Amino acid sequence: MKRQVLVLGAGMIGTCTALQLALRGHAVTLVDRREPGRETSYGNAGLIQREAVEPYPFPRDATTLARAAFKRGVDVNYHLGALPGVAGPLARYFANSQPARHAVIAQAHARLIEHCTAEHAPLIERAGASDLVRHDGFLFVYREAASYVQGVERARALAQSHGLQHAELDPDALAAAEPALRRRLAGAVHWKDSWAVSNPGELVSRYAALFTREGGHIVRGDAGSLRASASGWQVDTEQGAIDAEHAVVALGPWSDPLVRSLGYRYPLFVKRGYHRHYRGGEAPHLAMLDADRGLVIVPMQQGVRITTGAEFARLDAPPTPVQLERAHALASELVDLPEPVEDTPWLGARPCTADMLPVMGAAPRHRGLWFNFGHAHQGFTLGPVCGRLLADLIEGATPVVDPLPYAPTRFG
Ligand SMILES: Cc1cc2nc3c(=O)[nH]c(=O)nc-3n(C[C@H](O)[C@H](O)[C@H](O)COP(=O)(O)OP(=O)(O)OC[C@H]3O[C@@H](n4cnc5c(N)ncnc54)[C@H](O)[C@@H]3O)c2cc1C
Repeated sequence: MKRQVLVLGAGMIGTCTALQLALRGHAVTLVDRREPGRETSYGNAGLIQREAVEPYPFPRDATTLARAAFKRGVDVNYHLGALPGVAGPLARYFANSQPARHAVIAQAHARLIEHCTAEHAPLIERAGASDLVRHDGFLFVYREAASYVQGVERARALAQSHGLQHAELDPDALAAAEPALRRRLAGAVHWKDSWAVSNPGELVSRYAALFTREGGHIVRGDAGSLRASASGWQVDTEQGAIDAEHAVVALGPWSDPLVRSLGYRYPLFVKRGYHRHYRGGEAPHLAMLDADRGLVIVPMQQGVRITTGAEFARLDAPPTPVQLERAHALASELVDLPEPVEDTPWLGARPCTADMLPVMGAAPRHRGLWFNFGHAHQGFTLGPVCGRLLADLIEGATPVVDPLPYAPTRFG
């Protein structure tokens, strides 16, 4: 049966949800206040992270916590004034990061990650986006011998339990593989199944173009105007009010205000992150995580992109790019990054939940309303599989994975 669906939010998650529905012949309108893929899905590190089988836990060791508390690293920064507002969700995130609980959550996370490359592949092909995607993996580089040993132990365990391919590079092998490195490091783990996209926003644009070729409509509008109507749901757009039987909330970090206005209180928060491009030096071949410092260096169309860790701040608070300044100094120890491309850093916000899993499925108290948000550090990776899951649930088809761990009812 052909269904009419409004998808609110044209980031990677909303665009893939709309696309998966359109590919099945449903009548879909994708609503955003901007062009598709111009927000969080634009500014990430562009990694399709097949290796990311475990979600990021809240740090629990004293050294990392102290570094975060005193704002000494690039991995964590915070605005003191934002903490009271996020204390509740952060306390639950901390509790869920306790090793036994995290292991259970990681199983549910891995079930989605396992499908990431297989679900991106046909969309990349049909969208004519192969020129944007490299299949040669993601490097975790280690500065210190002790952390390299730990990284290798972890990699071996994950590779074995999740069927992942990896290679261990000693200092010589790493120097040979990455001549752009300016100093000798302790080693690297090369995750071979992960992919790197040279312009993440452009990949979303190509998926959006495929969506329109498949009969979908993209309309500028304000998701905040969503209301119940005689036929189901209605939203105001530049083309007037549009009605549909179903509406999907896929507004990434902006989902919370909308679902709150409908009476839903979820333990959501954002981890803001910055990036900036640099040119004028030799770019590395592969995307690399500086595992001992918590920053990512990735060659992109626009230049070499550096991305930072988490900043706990209000979504709309002014930028405080201290982590990026530090990240640039640290990254410059590894590769030559002389000239910034942009005048100011890009700022975005990872949409996070207290249990590190996305919120996906039917809204508990509203017929025809669906949620697909909270994909945190891996929303760019998970767009196609989570779009497919939503399409399965809306159609009543057998879901690609068991949806229970992600159900919007799980928070009570
Ligand atoms: C620094 C950084 C690095 C990252 N690196 C990676 C990575 O390498 N790999 C990975 O998988 N993930 C990565 N992520 C996470 C990933 O970027 C996010 O999980 C993902 O982009 C979220 O997608 P989304 O579609 O939910 O949100 P978004 O892309 O933010 O889309 C939400 C959309 O909603 C629209 N919107 C908001 N409010 C309204 C409104 N009122 N009316 C209409 N439209 C509205 C916005 O315009 C936007 O287009 C990273 C994130 C950051 C910040």
